[in-house]
Amino acid sequence: MQGGESGEVEASPKRPLFGATADELRAWVAANGHKPYRVKQIQQWAFHRRPKSFADMSDLPLDLRKKLDAEWTLFATDLAYRGVADDGTDKLLLRCRDGRNIECVLMADGIRRTVCISTQVGCGMGCVFCASGLKGVERNLSAAEVFDQVLQAQQLLPPGESVTHIVVMGMGESLANLENLLVALDRVCSPDDGLGMSQRRVTISTVGLPEKIRKLAAKDRQYHLAVSLHAPTEELRDELVPVNEKIGLTAVLEAADDYFRITGRQVTYEYVMLGGLNDRPQHATALGRLLKGRKAHVNLIPYNPVAGLPFLRPEPEDVRGFTDRVEGFGVAVTVRRTKGRSIDAACGQLRRRFESAAEPEAVAIGPPS
Ligand code: SAH
Repeated sequence: MQGGESGEVEASPKRPLFGATADELRAWVAANGHKPYRVKQIQQWAFHRRPKSFADMSDLPLDLRKKLDAEWTLFATDLAYRGVADDGTDKLLLRCRDGRNIECVLMADGIRRTVCISTQVGCGMGCVFCASGLKGVERNLSAAEVFDQVLQAQQLLPPGESVTHIVVMGMGESLANLENLLVALDRVCSPDDGLGMSQRRVTISTVGLPEKIRKLAAKDRQYHLAVSLHAPTEELRDELVPVNEKIGLTAVLEAADDYFRITGRQVTYEYVMLGGLNDRPQHATALGRLLKGRKAHVNLIPYNPVAGLPFLRPEPEDVRGFTDRVEGFGVAVTVRRTKGRSIDAACGQLRRRFESAAEPEAVAIGPPS
């Protein structure tokens, strides 16, 4: 239900069924006089089937379906918009109960089905080339809202296909919402209470918050860590990633080294290439020197243009030259392919387009096509 001028939406008293834990479901099912095995059936619907409504849950008795419908919603968010790019990338705009919008992206690549999820509404890190942080951070997402993105994306896959990988690379600074993120990822990876995904197929991307990186390392999980470096010197990183002024490159690298030492998981360094700014041969040499001897991997990301920002995409030959130089130091490099450009798939772009539209009618918010 739409609220007043603030754009706030009245909170629904109904709880999201698919975000409920097995314990919560057991209690509810018992309290409503149904057999315990109904919990497994409900979880099958949540994690492996594609119900559009409670009415679809055909193996549940009618009175149970009606009761569920009266007290629960299926999801924690509503699908407000779905954009499908020509390369098969799906971008979802999900509306939270408080009316705020979050984004997630579903990418198909061979047999991989990867979901890119958000952890915050907006972002407080202020990286100068990123659309997510242009208006700061509004709030952390709840664990249910984070988990919901994976379930919503999985619903769009044809029966028989499931999400195979998760990258926490959407809106927000992942480690600034570490507690909720971990609860959500534990659900994703739980064989009994979630999708049973391997922890090794989950990548958490961070701007590089040293204390939080160590906290994550101590959690005894096998998540892959990606650190957004973007510059090989303090001076340049201060310019591109303003939180670096308070943290410093050395502290970020030390924390990442600790992550590798404690978890045994090789760290990826992300490096957004901004034409003329950080993509010159001297930057590649400095990056190679910095990472030489580390069991690290560099992921070069050609800048995805954001309307209103002055940055340029790097020239393809500069990307090749950069790659060769860094590899010359014995550091592995991959270049990220850009997906979903036609649907504003870079973090924060879709939400921004929706929220900056002067006329609400000018944008197509409606049921998924
Ligand atoms: N806060 C986390 C997650 C951010 S999104 C982090 O900083 O890692 C994941 C990656 O996309 C980050 O490396 C981020 O810097 C990068 N990114 C943001 N805006 C981009 C853009 N316009 N083009 C290319 N990459 C971008």
